[in-house]
Amino acid sequence: MSEQNSKVTDAAADALKPNNFLRTIIERDLEQGLGGERRWAGQPGDAAAHAAAPLDAAKIRTRFPPEPNGYLHIGHAKSICLNFGLARDYGGECHLRFDDTNPEKEEQEYVDAIKEMVAWLGWRWDVKQDHSTGSNLYYASNYFDFMYRAAEYLIEAGLAYVDEQTPEDMRANRGDFTTPGTNSPFRDRTPAENLARFREMRDGTHADGAMVLRAKIDMASPNINMRDPALYRIRRAHHHNTGDKWCIYPMYTYAHPIEDALERITHSICTLEFEDQRPFYDWLLARLAEGGLLAQPLPHQYEFGRLNLSYVVTSKRKLRQLVEEGHVQSWDDPRMPTLVGMRRRGYTPQSIRAMVESTGVTKQNAWIDYSVLDGCLRADLEGQAPRAMAVIEPLKLKLTNYAEVFGSLEHRDPCSAPAHPHHAELGQRSFSFGPELWIEREDFLEVPVKGYQRLFPGNKVRLKAGHVVECTGCEKNEAGAITAVLATVVPDTKSGTPGADAIKVKGVITWVAAHEAVPVEFRLYDRLFTVPQPGAGEADFLTEINPQSLRITQGFVEPSLKSVSPEARFQFERHGYFVADRVDHRAEAPVFNKITGLRDGWGK
Ligand code: ATP
Ligand code: MG
Repeated sequence: MSEQNSKVTDAAADALKPNNFLRTIIERDLEQGLGGERRWAGQPGDAAAHAAAPLDAAKIRTRFPPEPNGYLHIGHAKSICLNFGLARDYGGECHLRFDDTNPEKEEQEYVDAIKEMVAWLGWRWDVKQDHSTGSNLYYASNYFDFMYRAAEYLIEAGLAYVDEQTPEDMRANRGDFTTPGTNSPFRDRTPAENLARFREMRDGTHADGAMVLRAKIDMASPNINMRDPALYRIRRAHHHNTGDKWCIYPMYTYAHPIEDALERITHSICTLEFEDQRPFYDWLLARLAEGGLLAQPLPHQYEFGRLNLSYVVTSKRKLRQLVEEGHVQSWDDPRMPTLVGMRRRGYTPQSIRAMVESTGVTKQNAWIDYSVLDGCLRADLEGQAPRAMAVIEPLKLKLTNYAEVFGSLEHRDPCSAPAHPHHAELGQRSFSFGPELWIEREDFLEVPVKGYQRLFPGNKVRLKAGHVVECTGCEKNEAGAITAVLATVVPDTKSGTPGADAIKVKGVITWVAAHEAVPVEFRLYDRLFTVPQPGAGEADFLTEINPQSLRITQGFVEPSLKSVSPEARFQFERHGYFVADRVDHRAEAPVFNKITGLRDGWGK
């Protein structure tokens, strides 16, 4: 990531200062001292590990805790920017923690992809407040030993028991919102019996699912999450980090608070659906602190509303379905709201950060209109993307008096235009004029409609940064389709020469000379869904896929784009913003993706 990138975004974030109740909480906490002295041993650890350590140089600690079971999407960008952004703004540190406590479906491939995308967004997990080296990259599976020890402690303290009820009985005995639960017949076993059973669970004596370890809290609690939640289950599965060491794995609701506490997180920020888990989060940490296992002050959980983007789905299950059933080509298909997909589509990290930062943080699950993202992209690229001419649906334009005007058909008339209209320092683009040019098919009509100012027989237009031409007719094939437009050059009308304005024309069109046009593939992307909230109500989201979400054309770009790098972005005059595809683009076979148009034309 470049220095400059982060400056642009920081300035944008400051200017907007959107509603963010978490800032208020953090400022209050910092004023009040965060509940006591907070020591930090330089790495995660239990109470003993932190006890003799110096005071934490980081004023706050936040974390982004993805489960490495899929690719990050635009919703995750919200959480990433929030956690890393708050740490940056308040002199803190943000941990990148892989929440890899679930052995199934977790893979190294996802770990690598997640790290790459967090870095691409411009965030670093290795910047420390005390300037020490090292990184805040952590894996929850490294805490399995502690989690196991904590479970034994809870058993010994009479706060947990092994339950051998069948899953059906367990469900039935949980009660519901109106009925309190019923105590398990195994609830009153002695700590010694529970400890023995739990060790058998660990040692592989019992079958998968035969029993679970549960917290002993209150089966009549109005909060169902407090009715003796499960802490450990038996699951014989290979884990990507710990291999076959364990056949019992902690439940997410047990593991997550412990991960936060070992890492000395101060503000554990999560999405709203975890609100009902907060009482258990607090209960568990308070018990383990009382037992001397975890250091005070303990982390606190705060919930915020998820980000939902219109015309997009962000459920991992649905995204997987789109890929696996072939509705899109891959996880990084430029129509996907995955960060890899959005990157390939051409969205800049700055535009994504500006979008999520401008939408604030609230207690409601917000729907953000997709046009907000496109607006952020245009705002980012408008001032910096080089301009170029491209012909997306080509039609040949033949200049029938070329040899008379220029002396010979072989003559090439040099033309130029600024790379950016407001940034002279970006230099000039050079190209040339010749007897045959490519123009857009839509720039010619044999019979003009009212108000049409482009090419039709008898009309004059300016070829941008070139000459004025007068249309004289067209050529057709046997089927009657137009194969070329015919025109004559109006002498002494070259852009930038004294005579250029002598002839007034209403239309200006873009073009590329056939002799030097670079053939390219254009991938014209549009929204993947036709409705703002795919799958809402009864609808099957798959039936709401936009059949026109991808159109491919073979066209041309001007010669200045002959050898651009993948991910180079341009504004193609009048067409919009494009990027050289980071996967398929080759100098000898260029591919440009349409990111978005010049203005919001969707639905109009
Ligand atoms: P899963 O259903 O697999 O748990 P998830 O979207 O919660 O999916 P995680 O990898 O657990 O995926 O998410 C990492 C973090 O990103 C979590 O803290 C989660 O709350 C946050 N997050 C996920 N989706 C959004 C969203 N749409 N808006 C804001 N934060 C989100
Ligand atoms: Mg999750």
